[in-house]
Amino acid sequence: MSTSVDLQNPDTEVYDVVGFGFGPANLALLAAIEEESVDVHGRPLKRLFIEQKETFCWHPGMLLEGAQIQLSFLKDLVTLRNPQSRFSFLTYLKDKGRLDRFANLRKFYPTRLEFNDYYGWVASQLTDDVRYNTEVMSVDPVENGETGLVEVVKVVTRNLTNGRVEEFLTRNLVVATGGVPNLPRGIGLRNSERTLHTSQFLQRKKQDFGDCSTPHRFVVVGSGQSAAEIFENLCNDFPNADVTAAIRRFAYQPADDSHFVNEIFFPDMEDFLYDLPERKRQLVIDAHRDTNYSCVDNDLIEAIYHFLYMNEVKGEDRARIRPFLELRDIHDEADETVLEFYNLITEKTEQLRADYVVLATGYVRPKRHPLVDKLSPFLVPAGTDGYQVDRYYRIETTQRFMPQLFLQGFCEDTHGLSDTLLSTLPIRSYDILKSLMTEEEAKEKIRRCRTPVESVA
Ligand SMILES: Cc1cc2nc3c(=O)[nH]c(=O)nc-3n(C[C@H](O)[C@H](O)[C@H](O)COP(=O)(O)OP(=O)(O)OC[C@H]3O[C@@H](n4cnc5c(N)ncnc54)[C@H](O)[C@@H]3O)c2cc1C
Repeated sequence: MSTSVDLQNPDTEVYDVVGFGFGPANLALLAAIEEESVDVHGRPLKRLFIEQKETFCWHPGMLLEGAQIQLSFLKDLVTLRNPQSRFSFLTYLKDKGRLDRFANLRKFYPTRLEFNDYYGWVASQLTDDVRYNTEVMSVDPVENGETGLVEVVKVVTRNLTNGRVEEFLTRNLVVATGGVPNLPRGIGLRNSERTLHTSQFLQRKKQDFGDCSTPHRFVVVGSGQSAAEIFENLCNDFPNADVTAAIRRFAYQPADDSHFVNEIFFPDMEDFLYDLPERKRQLVIDAHRDTNYSCVDNDLIEAIYHFLYMNEVKGEDRARIRPFLELRDIHDEADETVLEFYNLITEKTEQLRADYVVLATGYVRPKRHPLVDKLSPFLVPAGTDGYQVDRYYRIETTQRFMPQLFLQGFCEDTHGLSDTLLSTLPIRSYDILKSLMTEEEAKEKIRRCRTPVESVA
């Protein structure tokens, strides 16, 4: 795409970096930019972050009362980078007047409600650089007709209230849009109005089945942390309901958070893993999947076991775990939902009927991100899917393409299991920031020379 954009014109507004999505990953990056007083060419780095939600909120559908974060509060947005940061969890506690009482809790794992409040507290100090209620629609390369170089890209956004479309030019992008609900093959939420994904849980609970005394029949599909949390939540909050957990495996399995294994989430593990040949790296990742995927905190397993045991003592049969069931179909019939399962042991089909179904089937992160689709001719592919990504989370591009395009949370295959999590956010954002600065300066020199560079495409 050629363009009439005149980058030499001082009135042409060009950002140094635009971030897609403003969850914890890009929040940590913006905190780092703010705190490290980053200057490019003698002026502050010009940045903008675009978020579709109306305000900062971390997985609002799952802010269940009592649910805890699964890492130490010391792994907040900043402390691993700068323990003296003004954006730390401890500074937040001090500001809220709770530091002494938090210390007295003697806990390393705050609730998700509190950590979300902490994130929101940081975000509220950085509002000038964030555009909420705005969705990123697409990104176009902006090619300089004279040199043939793509020096900037054009980001197209839409305001979700009034539909207003806006365009922004930027020299660099950081894509941190998180995962999208993973639905079992062939099963869409459109098949059934009474079926929801965990990401919608609290909103739909309030809107559709808020009356806790109703004897609803619930089925929760899945065996990970969110599935177990929702199973417990429904059992506790709906004393007259019938709740079934349908899981593919034999039982809820504990998340391995033991000390030695947990070192897999140390920032320098990313160096180690990145340098391994692909096959060996995959071996290490697969061997540690039970730190994060399809596994449940041991305390929660214990609580659920105890609850089911007490049900038995009381002669009640209102909750159960049904193992070895693989979901094959869901559809609504009259005023109920029918779930078809394949029983992996009996090899027969089984049906369950419910008033509401919760799919706790996790998230996926596309290997090729749809938002950067139009940049594909400039991005170096890796095999048949995905891109080649360097150690600093940057997609390799052809020489003709000058912007840097960073991914946060889409590099698990190359950087390991901490990539989609919160553990290394302070270090990763600093890595991105450093390469943003170095490359920016190098590119500015090239820009000044304005020497056409041959494409390698
Ligand atoms: C319930 C739950 C609990 C978790 N708990 C933990 C935990 O305790 N510890 C841990 O390490 N990990 C945890 N995780 C993993 C989780 O992925 C991380 O916590 C974290 O949310 C990742 O941050 P992120 O910024 O990469 O993505 P997200 O938090 O998903 O943020 C992405 C943001 O991008 C926005 N967005 C998406 N598309 C667009 C678009 N086109 N335009 C504009 N905005 C867009 C979204 O609205 C969202 O706000 C949990 C996950 C879930 C679902």
